[in-house]
Amino acid sequence: MNTCVESIVLAPAIESMQEGVAPAEEKNCGAFCTPPCGAQDEEAPRGASAGPGAVAQGDSPAGFSDRPIPQTPQPEPAAEKNPWSAWAWLGLCKSPAREIPNLVHVDVDAFFASVEQVLNPRLRGKPVLVGRGCVASASYEAKALGVKTAMGFREALRVCPQAIVVPGQYEHYADFAERVRRILETYTPAVETAALDDFYLDFAGTERLYPDYRGTLVRLQMEIFKTTGLSVSIGAARTKVVASIASRLERPRGFRMVAPGDEETFLTPLPVEKLHGIGHMHTSTLAERGITTIGQLRRVPKAALHAAFGEAIGQQIWERARGLDGREVLPPSTPKSVSRETTIEGGTIDTEFLSGLIEYLSERIGSTLREYGKQARTLGLRLRYVDHFSAHQTVRLSKPTNDERELLFAAKELFTKLFTRRVAVRLAGVSVTNLETDRRQNELFDTSANRRWHLNREMDRVRGRFGWNAVFYGKGLALREHYATKPTGLVLSTPCLSR
Ligand SMILES: [Mg+2]
Repeated sequence: MNTCVESIVLAPAIESMQEGVAPAEEKNCGAFCTPPCGAQDEEAPRGASAGPGAVAQGDSPAGFSDRPIPQTPQPEPAAEKNPWSAWAWLGLCKSPAREIPNLVHVDVDAFFASVEQVLNPRLRGKPVLVGRGCVASASYEAKALGVKTAMGFREALRVCPQAIVVPGQYEHYADFAERVRRILETYTPAVETAALDDFYLDFAGTERLYPDYRGTLVRLQMEIFKTTGLSVSIGAARTKVVASIASRLERPRGFRMVAPGDEETFLTPLPVEKLHGIGHMHTSTLAERGITTIGQLRRVPKAALHAAFGEAIGQQIWERARGLDGREVLPPSTPKSVSRETTIEGGTIDTEFLSGLIEYLSERIGSTLREYGKQARTLGLRLRYVDHFSAHQTVRLSKPTNDERELLFAAKELFTKLFTRRVAVRLAGVSVTNLETDRRQNELFDTSANRRWHLNREMDRVRGRFGWNAVFYGKGLALREHYATKPTGLVLSTPCLSR
């Protein structure tokens, strides 16, 4: 491998390959330069059409072949001449839509520490460290004093003894991330949550909706700050890799837009480690060969990168160094199944308590199914006893449903079948599979089902506005005496309710 990497820095080899590559790149680049190339392409047919037209006139029996043929100017569409014409106002002009750096990366600055500072005003303006054992997030006040993420607490407190350490509250972070995501979705439906505080947005096709694209993104940044108190950094480019580098370059409250065609100029002076996906190992391998900037990396032939890092990673590095990235923004996919399960501390044989718990889990599943516009065909129940004996059974429902009463009815039938041992139950879980799109037409003439549908819809609406505990069934009362409550529901022993 070393010999291959050595060959990277052999200047003549590189230059000879670069010379071969350069014209091809120029050709490719030309494809992006729509004004000049597009203009040429448009001119060609015009000239071609003028030619036959002239010949036809020259061969005409009128005998004007010796006289110069007057070229009648082709009238251009009014909208192309005047962007303020009626056609332009109606959006019917033929002018090509300008290309925008449509992929936007939104990154919340020092997320956990910032949320802590929003929730506790006494922490604002102070160095705050979040985590247990090592720093999961440090406020910018702590970062300015030399603290870095993933640093051990002992080291971090040596660097910054006045730092305030907070253990972290995951539920709050998830709530804030959800609030940020909802704001983003009011600007474009194509929002991908890459990590808890990392989002990619696609603004392709919104040129007419947002004529002032830059102003729109600035407004988005300000709205998130005003609504949640969190500052975000924004980067916009044609590809994910360039957008994410742009957003991270000027944190906090960074804003960088890389115009189409400027990607390579933007990347050239940056250090290699800024490229997403290049680990420390690869960075040090490149540094040993004197390659420290992305501009230098771009001069390395593709074959040498393949040889040094393997075909997949070598190809990725080669593409990323040019700002190329085929990844698209992926909106959240709809679930194939939904399950809700929890452990019971110490176990219990109290059937009232267990059936209350199953009712609560069924309610959560019904609510999730309605949120996604889905109905379930199959329901399963899982019980695990304190002696690790496990029982699981599924049942096919008579008709697909997302009504929690129907789900509960099926779950309780399974419970009576499965709960046959005089041993305490340590885990209870309800799941649904075989999901299909909610089609209410099935219940058009079923008044009871219709009443249930309206009831569920109103309960969802009340809970969406006032929290999960604003309304619940009578059996839930006993459960609420056992468990603490929070706006999103009960605080169960196992809060990881998988989707
Ligand atoms: Mg962040």
